[in-house]
Amino acid sequence: MLLKHGEIFLKGRNRHRFTERLHDNLRIALRGIGGSTWIKDTQNVTVLGGEVPLDALVERARRVVGFASVEPAVRVPSTLDDVTRAGVDALRGLLADRPVRSFAVRSRRRDKQFPLTSSQVDVHVGARVKEALPQLTVDLKRPEVLLSVEIDRKETYLSWTRLPGLSGLPVGSSGRALVLLSGGYDSPVAAHRAMRRGLSCDFVHFNGAPYTNPSSVYKAYALARELNRCQPPGRLHVIALGKAQKQLAVAGAGRLQVVAQRRLMVRTASALAARTRAEALVTGDSLGQVASQTLANMAAVDEAASLPVLRPLVGWDKQEIIDEAHAIGTAGISVLPDEDCCQLLAPPRVSTRAGLPQLRAVERRLDLDEVVAVLLDHVQVMVPGDGAEQSVSGPSCATPVPVSS
Ligand code: ATP
Ligand code: MG
Repeated sequence: MLLKHGEIFLKGRNRHRFTERLHDNLRIALRGIGGSTWIKDTQNVTVLGGEVPLDALVERARRVVGFASVEPAVRVPSTLDDVTRAGVDALRGLLADRPVRSFAVRSRRRDKQFPLTSSQVDVHVGARVKEALPQLTVDLKRPEVLLSVEIDRKETYLSWTRLPGLSGLPVGSSGRALVLLSGGYDSPVAAHRAMRRGLSCDFVHFNGAPYTNPSSVYKAYALARELNRCQPPGRLHVIALGKAQKQLAVAGAGRLQVVAQRRLMVRTASALAARTRAEALVTGDSLGQVASQTLANMAAVDEAASLPVLRPLVGWDKQEIIDEAHAIGTAGISVLPDEDCCQLLAPPRVSTRAGLPQLRAVERRLDLDEVVAVLLDHVQVMVPGDGAEQSVSGPSCATPVPVSS
Protein backbone atom coordinates (compact mmCIF):
# COMPACT_ATOMS: atom_id res chain seq x y z
CA MET A 1 0.00 0.00 0.00
CA LEU A 2 1.30 3.45 -0.88
CA LEU A 3 0.78 6.35 1.49
CA LYS A 4 1.49 9.58 -0.33
CA HIS A 5 2.71 12.37 1.89
CA GLY A 6 0.81 15.63 2.18
CA GLU A 7 2.44 18.93 2.98
CA ILE A 8 5.56 17.36 4.45
CA PHE A 9 7.32 17.32 1.15
CA LEU A 10 7.33 21.11 1.26
CA LYS A 11 9.39 21.12 4.41
CA GLY A 12 12.86 21.26 2.86
CA ARG A 13 15.72 20.56 5.22
CA ASN A 14 13.41 19.61 8.11
CA ARG A 15 11.67 16.98 6.09
CA HIS A 16 13.25 13.99 7.81
CA ARG A 17 11.98 15.26 11.17
CA PHE A 18 8.43 15.44 9.86
CA THR A 19 8.74 12.03 8.21
CA GLU A 20 10.03 10.42 11.40
CA ARG A 21 7.09 11.87 13.33
CA LEU A 22 4.69 10.67 10.66
CA HIS A 23 6.06 7.14 10.85
CA ASP A 24 6.00 7.10 14.66
CA ASN A 25 2.34 8.10 14.49
CA LEU A 26 1.65 5.43 11.88
CA ARG A 27 3.27 2.78 14.08
CA ILE A 28 1.11 3.88 17.01
CA ALA A 29 -2.01 3.76 14.82
CA LEU A 30 -1.10 0.19 13.78
CA ARG A 31 -0.86 -1.07 17.36
CA GLY A 32 -3.09 -4.01 18.12
CA ILE A 33 -3.98 -4.60 14.47
CA GLY A 34 -3.42 -8.32 14.98
CA GLY A 35 -0.51 -9.17 12.69
CA SER A 36 2.93 -8.07 11.63
CA THR A 37 3.31 -4.92 9.55
CA TRP A 38 6.25 -3.14 7.93
CA ILE A 39 6.94 0.40 6.83
CA LYS A 40 9.35 1.45 4.11
CA ASP A 41 10.27 5.04 3.45
CA THR A 42 10.81 6.32 -0.04
CA GLN A 43 10.85 9.98 -0.91
CA ASN A 44 7.39 11.55 -0.42
CA VAL A 45 5.78 8.10 -0.22
CA THR A 46 5.58 5.58 2.59
CA VAL A 47 5.12 1.95 1.66
CA LEU A 48 3.08 -0.05 4.18
CA GLY A 49 2.54 -3.78 4.11
CA GLY A 50 1.84 -6.63 6.47
CA GLU A 51 0.28 -9.95 7.28
CA VAL A 52 -3.11 -8.39 7.98
CA PRO A 53 -6.28 -7.87 5.94
CA LEU A 54 -5.95 -4.96 3.53
CA ASP A 55 -9.17 -3.34 4.80
CA ALA A 56 -7.77 -3.09 8.32
CA LEU A 57 -4.52 -1.62 7.06
CA VAL A 58 -6.35 0.96 4.94
CA GLU A 59 -8.63 1.93 7.82
CA ARG A 60 -5.72 2.51 10.21
CA ALA A 61 -3.61 4.40 7.67
CA ARG A 62 -6.42 6.74 6.68
CA ARG A 63 -6.67 8.11 10.20
CA VAL A 64 -3.04 9.14 10.38
CA VAL A 65 -2.73 12.88 9.80
CA GLY A 66 -0.15 13.71 7.11
CA PHE A 67 -1.00 11.30 4.31
CA ALA A 68 -2.66 12.96 1.34
CA SER A 69 -3.80 9.63 -0.06
CA VAL A 70 -3.86 5.95 0.74
CA GLU A 71 -3.48 3.68 -2.29
CA PRO A 72 -3.69 -0.11 -2.17
CA ALA A 73 -0.93 -1.36 -4.49
CA VAL A 74 0.74 -4.42 -6.00
CA ARG A 75 4.50 -4.85 -5.88
CA VAL A 76 6.53 -6.28 -8.78
CA PRO A 77 10.25 -6.40 -9.64
CA SER A 78 11.44 -3.26 -11.46
CA THR A 79 11.69 -4.68 -14.97
CA LEU A 80 9.71 -3.34 -17.88
CA ASP A 81 8.16 -6.76 -18.52
CA ASP A 82 6.99 -7.22 -14.96
CA VAL A 83 5.63 -3.71 -14.75
CA THR A 84 3.80 -4.01 -18.08
CA ARG A 85 2.30 -7.39 -17.20
CA ALA A 86 1.13 -6.12 -13.81
CA GLY A 87 -0.46 -3.08 -15.48
CA VAL A 88 -2.37 -5.21 -17.98
CA ASP A 89 -3.45 -7.63 -15.23
CA ALA A 90 -4.65 -4.79 -13.05
CA LEU A 91 -6.90 -3.35 -15.74
CA ARG A 92 -8.13 -6.77 -16.80
CA GLY A 93 -9.07 -7.45 -13.17
CA LEU A 94 -10.87 -4.13 -12.91
CA LEU A 95 -12.81 -4.76 -16.14
CA ALA A 96 -13.98 -8.12 -14.82
CA ASP A 97 -15.41 -6.22 -11.86
CA ARG A 98 -17.08 -3.20 -13.41
CA PRO A 99 -17.41 -1.45 -16.76
CA VAL A 100 -14.39 0.78 -17.41
CA ARG A 101 -13.97 2.75 -20.62
CA SER A 102 -10.95 4.97 -20.23
CA PHE A 103 -7.63 4.85 -18.45
CA ALA A 104 -4.27 6.57 -18.25
CA VAL A 105 -0.87 5.51 -16.98
CA ARG A 106 1.19 7.88 -14.88
CA SER A 107 4.58 6.66 -13.78
CA ARG A 108 7.32 8.07 -11.65
CA ARG A 109 10.92 6.96 -11.74
CA ARG A 110 12.73 7.21 -8.43
CA ASP A 111 15.58 5.14 -9.85
CA LYS A 112 17.00 7.01 -12.79
CA GLN A 113 18.84 3.87 -13.95
CA PHE A 114 15.59 2.37 -15.21
CA PRO A 115 16.08 2.12 -19.00
CA LEU A 116 12.98 4.16 -19.94
CA THR A 117 11.97 7.65 -18.88
CA SER A 118 8.67 7.90 -17.05
CA SER A 119 6.81 9.20 -20.08
CA GLN A 120 8.23 6.34 -22.15
CA VAL A 121 6.93 3.92 -19.50
CA ASP A 122 3.50 5.61 -19.70
CA VAL A 123 3.40 5.14 -23.47
CA HIS A 124 4.74 1.59 -23.38
CA VAL A 125 2.42 0.27 -20.66
CA GLY A 126 -0.53 2.21 -22.11
CA ALA A 127 0.00 0.66 -25.55
CA ARG A 128 0.25 -2.89 -24.16
CA VAL A 129 -2.93 -2.39 -22.12
CA LYS A 130 -4.79 -1.17 -25.23
CA GLU A 131 -3.53 -4.15 -27.25
CA ALA A 132 -4.71 -6.61 -24.63
CA LEU A 133 -7.97 -4.80 -23.86
CA PRO A 134 -9.05 -2.99 -27.05
CA GLN A 135 -12.34 -1.87 -25.51
CA LEU A 136 -10.37 0.65 -23.41
CA THR A 137 -9.36 4.10 -24.61
CA VAL A 138 -6.62 6.31 -23.27
CA ASP A 139 -7.88 9.55 -21.74
CA LEU A 140 -5.09 11.64 -20.29
CA LYS A 141 -7.34 14.41 -18.99
CA ARG A 142 -10.18 12.59 -17.24
CA PRO A 143 -9.42 8.88 -17.11
CA GLU A 144 -11.87 6.66 -15.26
CA VAL A 145 -8.88 4.68 -14.00
CA LEU A 146 -5.52 6.25 -13.35
CA LEU A 147 -2.84 3.59 -13.13
CA SER A 148 -0.06 4.99 -11.01
CA VAL A 149 3.39 3.37 -11.35
CA GLU A 150 6.13 4.11 -8.82
CA ILE A 151 9.44 2.74 -10.04
CA ASP A 152 12.10 2.19 -7.41
CA ARG A 153 15.51 0.60 -7.84
CA LYS A 154 14.36 -2.97 -7.14
CA GLU A 155 10.63 -2.80 -6.77
CA THR A 156 7.82 -1.09 -8.57
CA TYR A 157 4.40 -0.38 -7.09
CA LEU A 158 1.26 -0.14 -9.19
CA SER A 159 -1.90 1.37 -7.75
CA TRP A 160 -5.23 2.40 -9.22
CA THR A 161 -7.43 3.24 -6.24
CA ARG A 162 -6.83 6.51 -4.48
CA LEU A 163 -8.50 6.96 -1.11
CA PRO A 164 -8.13 10.46 0.31
CA GLY A 165 -6.23 10.72 3.59
CA LEU A 166 -6.41 13.47 6.19
CA SER A 167 -3.44 15.42 4.74
CA GLY A 168 -2.02 18.11 7.02
CA LEU A 169 1.08 17.95 9.21
CA PRO A 170 1.97 14.97 11.41
CA VAL A 171 0.41 15.29 14.86
CA GLY A 172 3.06 16.56 17.27
CA SER A 173 5.19 18.33 14.68
CA SER A 174 3.73 21.71 15.70
CA GLY A 175 3.81 21.07 19.47
CA ARG A 176 1.16 20.37 22.11
CA ALA A 177 -2.16 22.07 22.78
CA LEU A 178 -4.93 21.80 25.34
CA VAL A 179 -8.41 21.78 23.78
CA LEU A 180 -11.38 23.15 25.72
CA LEU A 181 -13.79 20.39 24.81
CA SER A 182 -17.50 20.84 25.47
CA GLY A 183 -20.19 18.42 24.36
CA GLY A 184 -21.24 20.55 21.37
CA TYR A 185 -20.45 20.41 17.66
CA ASP A 186 -17.79 23.09 17.54
CA SER A 187 -14.94 22.19 19.85
CA PRO A 188 -14.40 18.63 18.50
CA VAL A 189 -14.18 20.03 14.97
CA ALA A 190 -11.74 22.69 16.22
CA ALA A 191 -9.66 19.95 17.86
CA HIS A 192 -9.58 17.97 14.63
CA ARG A 193 -8.41 21.02 12.70
CA ALA A 194 -5.72 21.69 15.31
CA MET A 195 -4.52 18.09 15.01
CA ARG A 196 -4.35 18.44 11.25
CA ARG A 197 -2.02 21.40 11.68
CA GLY A 198 0.35 19.19 13.64
CA LEU A 199 -0.78 19.89 17.21
CA SER A 200 -0.83 17.03 19.64
CA CYS A 201 -4.01 17.59 21.66
CA ASP A 202 -4.97 16.96 25.25
CA PHE A 203 -8.49 17.88 26.32
CA VAL A 204 -10.15 19.60 29.25
CA HIS A 205 -13.88 19.44 29.89
CA PHE A 206 -15.70 21.49 32.51
CA ASN A 207 -18.97 20.16 33.83
CA GLY A 208 -21.49 21.68 36.19
CA ALA A 209 -21.05 19.12 38.98
CA PRO A 210 -22.34 18.99 41.67
CA TYR A 211 -25.36 20.78 40.14
CA THR A 212 -25.64 18.85 36.87
CA ASN A 213 -25.68 15.17 35.96
CA PRO A 214 -22.58 13.61 34.32
CA SER A 215 -24.10 13.39 30.81
CA SER A 216 -21.73 16.03 29.40
CA VAL A 217 -18.74 14.11 30.76
CA TYR A 218 -19.82 10.96 28.93
CA LYS A 219 -20.08 12.99 25.74
CA ALA A 220 -16.68 14.61 26.23
CA TYR A 221 -15.20 11.18 26.84
CA ALA A 222 -16.77 9.73 23.69
CA LEU A 223 -15.66 12.77 21.66
CA ALA A 224 -12.09 12.57 22.93
CA ARG A 225 -12.01 8.86 22.13
CA GLU A 226 -13.17 9.57 18.58
CA LEU A 227 -10.57 12.34 18.18
CA ASN A 228 -7.85 10.13 19.63
CA ARG A 229 -8.29 7.77 16.70
CA CYS A 230 -6.40 10.39 14.66
CA GLN A 231 -3.48 10.97 17.04
CA PRO A 232 -1.35 9.21 19.63
CA PRO A 233 -4.01 9.28 22.37
CA GLY A 234 -4.29 12.54 24.31
CA ARG A 235 -5.59 12.85 27.88
CA LEU A 236 -9.00 14.08 28.91
CA HIS A 237 -9.14 16.21 32.06
CA VAL A 238 -12.55 16.65 33.67
CA ILE A 239 -13.10 19.53 36.07
CA ALA A 240 -16.23 20.14 38.16
CA LEU A 241 -16.97 23.84 37.74
CA GLY A 242 -20.40 24.07 39.41
CA LYS A 243 -19.30 25.52 42.76
CA ALA A 244 -17.00 28.09 41.17
CA GLN A 245 -19.83 29.10 38.80
CA LYS A 246 -22.01 29.66 41.81
CA GLN A 247 -19.28 31.77 43.45
CA LEU A 248 -19.21 34.00 40.36
CA ALA A 249 -22.99 34.35 40.46
CA VAL A 250 -22.91 35.22 44.16
CA ALA A 251 -20.20 37.80 43.40
CA GLY A 252 -22.77 39.53 41.19
CA ALA A 253 -21.63 38.55 37.69
CA GLY A 254 -25.18 39.00 36.34
CA ARG A 255 -25.09 39.50 32.58
CA LEU A 256 -21.33 38.90 32.67
CA GLN A 257 -21.78 35.38 34.07
CA VAL A 258 -21.05 33.49 30.84
CA VAL A 259 -17.95 35.51 29.94
CA ALA A 260 -16.73 35.37 33.55
CA GLN A 261 -17.09 31.58 33.45
CA ARG A 262 -15.25 31.41 30.15
CA ARG A 263 -12.44 33.50 31.67
CA LEU A 264 -12.28 31.11 34.60
CA MET A 265 -12.11 28.20 32.16
CA VAL A 266 -9.14 29.62 30.23
CA ARG A 267 -7.42 30.68 33.45
CA THR A 268 -7.75 27.14 34.80
CA ALA A 269 -6.82 25.62 31.45
CA SER A 270 -3.70 27.82 31.30
CA ALA A 271 -2.62 26.52 34.71
CA LEU A 272 -3.38 22.95 33.65
CA ALA A 273 -1.41 23.48 30.43
CA ALA A 274 1.72 24.00 32.50
CA ARG A 275 1.29 20.41 33.70
CA THR A 276 0.51 18.93 30.30
CA ARG A 277 3.26 21.00 28.64
CA ALA A 278 0.79 22.58 26.23
CA GLU A 279 1.88 25.71 24.41
CA ALA A 280 -1.59 26.87 23.35
CA LEU A 281 -5.27 26.53 24.15
CA VAL A 282 -7.80 25.63 21.46
CA THR A 283 -11.50 26.52 21.51
CA GLY A 284 -14.42 26.02 19.13
CA ASP A 285 -15.38 29.71 19.03
CA SER A 286 -16.67 31.15 15.77
CA LEU A 287 -16.88 34.90 15.55
CA GLY A 288 -20.37 36.17 16.34
CA GLN A 289 -21.95 32.71 16.49
CA VAL A 290 -23.53 33.41 19.88
CA ALA A 291 -23.54 36.41 22.23
CA SER A 292 -20.55 35.12 24.16
CA GLN A 293 -18.44 34.98 20.99
CA THR A 294 -18.41 38.62 19.91
CA LEU A 295 -15.02 40.21 19.29
CA ALA A 296 -15.22 42.14 22.58
CA ASN A 297 -16.01 38.96 24.54
CA MET A 298 -13.26 36.99 22.82
CA ALA A 299 -10.82 39.73 23.76
CA ALA A 300 -12.02 39.61 27.36
CA VAL A 301 -11.49 35.84 27.41
CA ASP A 302 -8.03 36.10 25.86
CA GLU A 303 -7.01 38.60 28.49
CA ALA A 304 -7.51 35.94 31.18
CA ALA A 305 -5.40 33.32 29.37
CA SER A 306 -1.66 33.08 29.79
CA LEU A 307 -1.23 31.12 26.56
CA PRO A 308 -2.30 31.89 22.98
CA VAL A 309 -5.95 30.93 22.45
CA LEU A 310 -6.27 29.32 19.01
CA ARG A 311 -9.70 29.37 17.38
CA PRO A 312 -9.51 27.24 14.23
CA LEU A 313 -13.21 27.81 13.45
CA VAL A 314 -13.25 31.58 13.82
CA GLY A 315 -14.45 32.10 10.24
CA TRP A 316 -16.69 29.06 9.87
CA ASP A 317 -20.49 29.06 9.53
CA LYS A 318 -22.46 26.79 11.86
CA GLN A 319 -23.61 24.63 8.96
CA GLU A 320 -20.03 24.17 7.74
CA ILE A 321 -19.07 23.08 11.25
CA ILE A 322 -21.94 20.59 11.48
CA ASP A 323 -21.11 19.16 8.04
CA GLU A 324 -17.50 18.72 9.09
CA ALA A 325 -18.60 17.11 12.37
CA HIS A 326 -20.49 14.53 10.29
CA ALA A 327 -17.45 13.95 8.10
CA ILE A 328 -15.10 13.33 11.03
CA GLY A 329 -17.56 11.20 13.01
CA THR A 330 -18.23 13.45 16.01
CA ALA A 331 -21.72 14.72 15.04
CA GLY A 332 -23.50 11.60 16.32
CA ILE A 333 -22.05 12.21 19.78
CA SER A 334 -22.48 16.00 19.81
CA VAL A 335 -26.19 15.70 18.97
CA LEU A 336 -26.94 13.76 22.18
CA PRO A 337 -28.69 15.73 24.93
CA ASP A 338 -26.68 16.75 27.97
CA GLU A 339 -26.67 19.09 30.94
CA ASP A 340 -24.04 21.59 29.90
CA CYS A 341 -22.39 23.71 32.59
CA CYS A 342 -22.87 26.86 30.48
CA GLN A 343 -26.66 26.56 30.71
CA LEU A 344 -26.38 26.44 34.46
CA LEU A 345 -26.75 30.00 35.85
CA ALA A 346 -26.79 31.50 32.34
CA PRO A 347 -28.44 34.93 32.47
CA PRO A 348 -31.51 35.52 30.24
CA ARG A 349 -29.43 38.01 28.22
CA VAL A 350 -25.70 37.54 27.83
CA SER A 351 -23.67 40.73 27.58
CA THR A 352 -22.18 41.10 24.10
CA ARG A 353 -19.64 43.66 25.30
CA ALA A 354 -18.33 42.44 28.61
CA GLY A 355 -16.07 45.20 29.91
CA LEU A 356 -12.80 44.31 31.59
CA PRO A 357 -13.25 46.72 34.53
CA GLN A 358 -16.63 45.17 35.42
CA LEU A 359 -15.29 41.63 34.98
CA ARG A 360 -12.31 42.44 37.19
CA ALA A 361 -14.60 43.94 39.82
CA VAL A 362 -16.56 40.66 40.00
CA GLU A 363 -13.39 38.58 40.02
CA ARG A 364 -11.86 40.64 42.85
CA ARG A 365 -14.63 39.42 45.14
CA LEU A 366 -13.20 35.89 44.75
CA ASP A 367 -9.74 34.63 45.54
CA LEU A 368 -9.14 33.52 41.95
CA ASP A 369 -5.81 31.81 42.58
CA GLU A 370 -7.43 29.76 45.31
CA VAL A 371 -10.45 28.95 43.11
CA VAL A 372 -8.16 27.70 40.32
CA ALA A 373 -6.03 25.71 42.76
CA VAL A 374 -9.12 23.97 44.16
CA LEU A 375 -10.40 23.19 40.65
CA LEU A 376 -7.06 21.65 39.68
CA ASP A 377 -6.91 19.66 42.91
CA HIS A 378 -10.00 17.75 41.88
CA VAL A 379 -9.29 17.18 38.22
CA GLN A 380 -9.98 13.70 36.84
CA VAL A 381 -7.64 12.44 34.15
CA MET A 382 -8.29 9.67 31.65
CA VAL A 383 -7.00 8.46 28.31
CA PRO A 384 -9.95 7.72 26.06
CA GLY A 385 -8.67 5.45 23.32
CA ASP A 386 -9.29 2.40 21.21
CA GLY A 387 -8.50 -0.87 22.91
CA ALA A 388 -5.83 0.57 25.19
CA GLU A 389 -8.59 1.94 27.42
CA GLN A 390 -6.94 3.16 30.53
CA SER A 391 -7.91 5.39 33.42
CA VAL A 392 -4.95 7.27 34.81
CA SER A 393 -6.70 8.49 37.92
CA GLY A 394 -10.20 8.03 39.25
CA PRO A 395 -12.54 10.52 40.89
CA SER A 396 -10.86 9.98 44.24
CA CYS A 397 -7.41 10.81 42.92
CA ALA A 398 -6.50 14.36 43.75
CA THR A 399 -3.57 15.10 41.47
CA PRO A 400 -3.34 14.41 37.77
CA VAL A 401 -0.46 12.35 36.51
CA PRO A 402 1.95 14.60 34.61
CA VAL A 403 2.09 13.89 30.92
CA SER A 404 5.33 12.17 30.15
CA SER A 405 5.12 11.52 26.43
P1 ATP B 1 -19.43 23.96 21.29
O1 ATP B 1 -20.26 23.51 20.16
O2 ATP B 1 -17.98 23.60 21.15
O3 ATP B 1 -20.00 23.57 22.61
P2 ATP B 1 -20.77 26.42 21.46
O4 ATP B 1 -21.28 26.83 20.16
O5 ATP B 1 -21.69 25.74 22.39
O6 ATP B 1 -19.46 25.52 21.24
P3 ATP B 1 -19.93 28.09 23.58
O7 ATP B 1 -20.76 27.31 24.53
O8 ATP B 1 -19.99 29.57 23.57
O9 ATP B 1 -20.14 27.69 22.11
O10 ATP B 1 -18.42 27.67 23.83
C1 ATP B 1 -17.37 28.22 23.10
C2 ATP B 1 -16.13 27.40 23.32
O11 ATP B 1 -15.76 27.43 24.70
C3 ATP B 1 -16.35 25.94 23.02
O12 ATP B 1 -16.18 25.65 21.66
C4 ATP B 1 -15.30 25.28 23.86
O13 ATP B 1 -14.02 25.33 23.25
C5 ATP B 1 -15.30 26.14 25.10
N1 ATP B 1 -16.24 25.58 26.08
C6 ATP B 1 -17.52 25.91 26.29
N2 ATP B 1 -18.06 25.16 27.26
C7 ATP B 1 -17.09 24.32 27.67
C8 ATP B 1 -17.03 23.27 28.64
N3 ATP B 1 -18.10 22.94 29.37
N4 ATP B 1 -15.87 22.61 28.79
C9 ATP B 1 -14.79 22.93 28.04
N5 ATP B 1 -14.81 23.88 27.11
C10 ATP B 1 -15.94 24.58 26.93
MG1 MG C 1 -21.30 24.51 23.95
